[in-house]
Amino acid sequence: RIGDPGRPTWVHLDLSAIADNVRALRTHAGVPLMVVLKGDGYGHGAARVARAALAAGAEALAVATLGEGRALRAQGINAPILVLGYTPPWQVADAIRLDLMITLFDDDTAQALSAAAAELGRPARVHIKADTGMARLGLPSAEVGPFLHRLRDRPGIEPVGLYTHFARADEADPAPTTQQLARFQAILTAITSAGLRPPIVHAANSAATLRFPAARFDMVRPGLACYGLAPSPDAPLLPGMRPALSFYSEVAQVRTHPAGTPISYGGVYVTPRPARIATIPVGYADGLRRSPPWREVLIRGRRAPIVGRICMDYIMVDVTDIPGVQRGDTVTIIGRQGDDAIWVDEIAGWLGTISYEVLTGILPRVPREI
Ligand code: PLP
Repeated sequence: RIGDPGRPTWVHLDLSAIADNVRALRTHAGVPLMVVLKGDGYGHGAARVARAALAAGAEALAVATLGEGRALRAQGINAPILVLGYTPPWQVADAIRLDLMITLFDDDTAQALSAAAAELGRPARVHIKADTGMARLGLPSAEVGPFLHRLRDRPGIEPVGLYTHFARADEADPAPTTQQLARFQAILTAITSAGLRPPIVHAANSAATLRFPAARFDMVRPGLACYGLAPSPDAPLLPGMRPALSFYSEVAQVRTHPAGTPISYGGVYVTPRPARIATIPVGYADGLRRSPPWREVLIRGRRAPIVGRICMDYIMVDVTDIPGVQRGDTVTIIGRQGDDAIWVDEIAGWLGTISYEVLTGILPRVPREI
């Protein structure tokens, strides 16, 4: 442990890993990098990741919500920030005040934005979103040109960007992504010939940045890979890229129980033999999912299974086979310890989910300052 995290359960960020990941992606892509910091930087702590990424050569940042952008500005981050998510008309004046670029895809919001820009006497810089196959947010392909055309009549709005988002770039089959790319290319051809192409066109998430050179355009927009995790086995990371986040706790108590002792709420686990049980001060209020349950942690470089129900603030682990475990021993929940490591992809397998959800599931009670 370095310093005092304020609690015996904490997340450690390897900022050199963030920097190396950003440099590797930047070099590979050969175009400017917009680092995605949604969900408090995928659970890592957005401001610290932002500073490390910008120092390593990232040019821009992206967040999901206006509030996430406001938090970065409050931390003194002045880089360009795009709000990827839905910004309702009643929030657009704040976006201009905070110098946040919003994602625009409808006329109501454009009207509100133009009015706010006039009132504040400052232009609103926006990125237009085209939906080419994700069916989430954005304009249908055929409406992008007409929308850009109408924007010309809305003073105060500067369409600096146009983007789309891939639904399946991490899958083995490239066909769905190639199809989305073709639709996006068709939009670009049409708006370029009409003189409506915004200066910054972007599309690539991590998987597309790694796998689809044709998706690079003027900028790439990776999230997960910046944190050192591969989007899927079909979209592996580049050499030298590695996870930045580790999650630790420490042993609070160790006791020996006879065979037949029920452990934790409900007594659903009963020791099958005399057992050494360590109690660890981390639980579901920190993000260790109760059901389906988190399974193992590392103590003294060895795997200790979680036994009994996961509590709000505690887990119990069986350390019978790990000699010498005592109060104060470091517990690795995510990361390397000795010769073994538990990474987020393995945990996602236990929980039946994806690494993104495991990372953003580490709750705010866990300090990220260390
Ligand atoms: N762009 C948009 C619009 C997103 O929603 C996301 C995240 O899902 C990303 C880029 C980054 O995706 P990834 O983390 O897979 O690189």
